[in-house]
Amino acid sequence: MSNLTDLTIAGARDALRAGETTAVALTEAHLDAVAASGALNAFVHHTPEIARAQAEAADARIARGDAPDMCGIPIGVKDLFCTKGVASQAGSAILDGFKPEYESTITDQLFRDGAVMLGKLNMDEFAMGSSNETSTYGDVVNPWRAGNSDAALTPGGSSGGSAAAVAARLCLGALGTDTGGSIRQPAAFTGITGIKPTYGRCSRWGVVAFASSLDQAGPMTRSVRDAAIFLRAMSGHDPKDSTSADLAVPDFEAMLTGDIKGQTIGIPREYRMEGMPEEIETLWTEGTEMLRDAGAEIRDISLPHTKYALPAYYVIAPAEASSNLARYDGVRFGHRAALDQGDGITEMYEKTRAEGFGPEVQRRVMVGTYVLSAGFYDAYYNRARRVRTLIKKDFEDAFAAGVDAILTPATPSSAFELGANFTPIQMYLNDVFTVTVNLAGLPGVAVPAGLDRRGLPMGLQLIGKPWDEGGLLNVASVIEARAGFVARPDKWW
Ligand code: GLN
Repeated sequence: MSNLTDLTIAGARDALRAGETTAVALTEAHLDAVAASGALNAFVHHTPEIARAQAEAADARIARGDAPDMCGIPIGVKDLFCTKGVASQAGSAILDGFKPEYESTITDQLFRDGAVMLGKLNMDEFAMGSSNETSTYGDVVNPWRAGNSDAALTPGGSSGGSAAAVAARLCLGALGTDTGGSIRQPAAFTGITGIKPTYGRCSRWGVVAFASSLDQAGPMTRSVRDAAIFLRAMSGHDPKDSTSADLAVPDFEAMLTGDIKGQTIGIPREYRMEGMPEEIETLWTEGTEMLRDAGAEIRDISLPHTKYALPAYYVIAPAEASSNLARYDGVRFGHRAALDQGDGITEMYEKTRAEGFGPEVQRRVMVGTYVLSAGFYDAYYNRARRVRTLIKKDFEDAFAAGVDAILTPATPSSAFELGANFTPIQMYLNDVFTVTVNLAGLPGVAVPAGLDRRGLPMGLQLIGKPWDEGGLLNVASVIEARAGFVARPDKWW
């Protein structure tokens, strides 16, 4: 077979089962692509020995005829996942040299199914960022370029390495995580599909925590079908994560019927933002028409508390982060600062954290500590939690009134230039359409739906009812089929 790196996961699975290729051949083709992709800075730890051993085992299993869907599929893993014996640094200098003694539940499930790990993927430090510029490994470069310009663009963040790797065909799919949009925004910026599942669908055990009540892992892939296949393999109850749901995992792929007749799609008026580029507006209207054409009823809806979502998120997420990141103190993991004579434990903590954390992480820790401090707890943290309840209720009311899924833009713009030098607040505005979904714990998927006039991908977001990832992916498959997005980045790297 030619062009093994152009296959989808579904295509590779079928080709493996039909004996048209082998996991070893697929893996070697992707290892070559990864080795030649240094200019993208997507892969930051390479694991070719592991990949080759896993590929051989996968071929043996495929030959026996009992291979699960992900068997022999080469994937990339965001650096936020703990992988046994393999560097897992969450994009941070404070975890320099950290190689976990354990495997995250999600990677463990994937490896049991026979998936092949090519290496670890770059990301914003501790998943804080929207441009992959806060990483200790340096920026990730988007494989897409605008028009004739060779200016380096952001792949989005925080799962920027995962998005770039999938779009550039370095792997068939990648693991991402999403606390406020970190799967969906980079997916939209790179023309791929990314789903954040319902909170509790996938285990968080062994995934470095950012904001525990918002974090969910999910797949990033080149098709909706691939997202369905990959998500099923990641999902399921885990007794080691008390927030993981004890629910059966449906066959999401089997739910991709393409039939959405009679379903009601909500269009929330609050997502029509002032200053949004016309092209994004147009894309949203086109997406609406695609769903109407496919037989869905389109209904204008209101989610009145939307405008408070971003401020609430940027109180709750830093609050949880400041607590979660307290464990990086130079004692247990990774980096410890060199000490001067007379330094005590306090100096050791202070110097280690000052050296190990980058500016964005330090900002979040300070904001989080402030909003949780005795004098301000009610004014900020408790108020944000009340707002969160109202945002969740907005969605519940819409679903109770018969809405099956909600269509919005995925991002307020397409990919911007690296080094654009946004203020923190400007950067936070990237998440305006995505954070509501994490605050409400709902599933959300970004699907590529068109190109802007510079030739850059733009994505639409669908938001679903709790545990309805299958139905949501089915609606996404209708957009995918009708938008017919086939563009791919020209190879320059
Ligand atoms: N960009 C958002 C932030 O910086 C979301 C990040 C994420 O989803 N991990 O917090």
